[in-house]
Amino acid sequence: MIMSDWVDFSEIKSRVTIEQVLRSYRVDWLRRSGAQQYRGRCPIHAGQGKEAFHANFRQNLFHCFACGAGGNVLDLVAAMEACTVREAALRLRASQVSGPASQSGQRQLVTKKRTVNSPLGFSLTLDRRHSYLIRRGIDAATADWFEVGYYCGGGLMSGRIAIPIHDEHARLVAYCGRAIDGAAAPRYRFPSGFQKSHVLFNYHRALATSSNSLIVVEGFFDCMRVHQAGFPCVVALMGARLSRAQRALVTDRFSNIVLLLDGDPTGRRATAQIASDLAPALAVTELLLPAGMQPDQMQADQTRQILAGPERRLAIGNH
Ligand SMILES: [Zn+2]
Repeated sequence: MIMSDWVDFSEIKSRVTIEQVLRSYRVDWLRRSGAQQYRGRCPIHAGQGKEAFHANFRQNLFHCFACGAGGNVLDLVAAMEACTVREAALRLRASQVSGPASQSGQRQLVTKKRTVNSPLGFSLTLDRRHSYLIRRGIDAATADWFEVGYYCGGGLMSGRIAIPIHDEHARLVAYCGRAIDGAAAPRYRFPSGFQKSHVLFNYHRALATSSNSLIVVEGFFDCMRVHQAGFPCVVALMGARLSRAQRALVTDRFSNIVLLLDGDPTGRRATAQIASDLAPALAVTELLLPAGMQPDQMQADQTRQILAGPERRLAIGNH
């Protein structure tokens, strides 16, 4: 991939101080320890350890002895925002107040070609036993398998259920933050720059099964519940349409597709559209759920009945 929207990492690292970044996140509880160092509770994982987070203002570096996060200002912003280092650099550049005039009109004319979903350089420490997961019917084994959990640190995923998303090479490329409060918007928060049309949630785990039949659902929780019911070869579209890149992923490896989208008008329309799109390439089974029903709300035996009932060929637990 060509990156014509060039960012000068070292220029940003030398100009922005770790103190400025911490201040921008309203981290004001650190206390001085020695001439150049501050210590305190870690703003990234925000967990135990009142002394875990160390920031060295002379070296412009930080390290957390509890969650293991560490690095320069770009790493700090990436960890706080749950984004890539490159996105962190773009953020710092965009938010600069006193720097040289880099936001000239000229820059806006540059076509933004960028690497699609580059791997994250860190992972978040999450509470996989949070009550929200239990409320959504996600058991402990499933939460561990998908590595989902509540994030109590700062930044983009703060106060949300963070769902790790991997690319087809099993590299962690983003977290999606699900609000746990019905009123919070957006319900699903993706990092800016993340392109969900280029990945299928859980695809790398579906690839690792020996199944030729892939179940396709709309959402993360549909996917986790279908897995939990005994069908590990399942992916989520993260929406109700199949993009060209997603189509390529599907047809690349699987010969049978089972569409299990929501039982609402959007799900019905999407089922018909995706089926006609895929039919020339592989065998498609359209499972139409009754109105108002969706896979994340079905009991496991309901899911098994629909997917593995007498008229279906799908084996349960086909690892
Ligand atoms: Zn930490």
